[in-house]
Amino acid sequence: MNDDPEKRKLALVIGGSRGIGRAVALRLARSGFDIWLNYRSRRDAAEETRDAIVACGAACDLLEFDVADREAVKTALSDKADLTPPDALVFNAGIARDNLMVWMTHEEWSEVLNTNLNGFFHVTQTVLFPMLREKRGRIVAISSTSGQIGQAGQVNYSASKAGLIGAAKALAREVGKKNVLVNVVAPGVIETDMTQDLPTDRILPLIPQNRLGQVEDVAAVVTFLCAEPCMYVHGQVIGVNGGLAM
Ligand code: NDP
Repeated sequence: MNDDPEKRKLALVIGGSRGIGRAVALRLARSGFDIWLNYRSRRDAAEETRDAIVACGAACDLLEFDVADREAVKTALSDKADLTPPDALVFNAGIARDNLMVWMTHEEWSEVLNTNLNGFFHVTQTVLFPMLREKRGRIVAISSTSGQIGQAGQVNYSASKAGLIGAAKALAREVGKKNVLVNVVAPGVIETDMTQDLPTDRILPLIPQNRLGQVEDVAAVVTFLCAEPCMYVHGQVIGVNGGLAM
């Protein structure tokens, strides 16, 4: 990490225009980070988030690309990250295409894997060399409780999120000695666009804290992992789920 407290740091937030990613970007901005904010298509939401970040006194570059598209990721990030290595990468982009396994189409399977898991490979590889060269960096992947314990109707999503955990742990073993720290945050049920149609009355009894999570609950943990200078947390999966899984 950049040890000079006066100097702003830089975070790349993937899928930062809405929901959890937006809250992460805003909290990082308030904690001294400038932001490279990626989104896929919702330019209006991205611009609104950028304005909110700038209002916090941080700089913000918008980066439109689809993480599933390896060439698009390289074009957008390779030179930029080589020139200015980010201090932190938060891989938050994710989609769900829920269906029971017996009915699941190949498209539903591959769209989710291509975005949630291949996207992590595409993006992380572009920033990893620069981080290793600088001998500093924080990488946080946003997984899910579904990736830890499985969820019926989400074989594709659970596989992608469990894959992220395996990938992050293996990467942590590769790069820890270079001072690049890799961790996973696994949210439970968080109130965002993604979960707006879920039956809250059936879910609440499963959550010991008896409430759904808020985006700030996740942002707080991610920011701790990215910003805390005193850090011996590495290769870990931190659940943010109100006790839904323990
Ligand atoms: P939202 O659907 O609210 O936001 C998703 C964000 O990811 C948007 O910024 C979207 O950009 C971006 N995105 C989606 N696909 C791509 C892509 N292919 N390339 C680049 N950006 C993309 O999701 P949430 O905030 O609810 O979820 C964020 C993360 O947290 C996801 O990985 C999700 O799986 C995970 N999670 C969420 C939980 C929840 O309860 N909400 C629980 C557990 C995990 P755009 O605006 O352009 O579409």
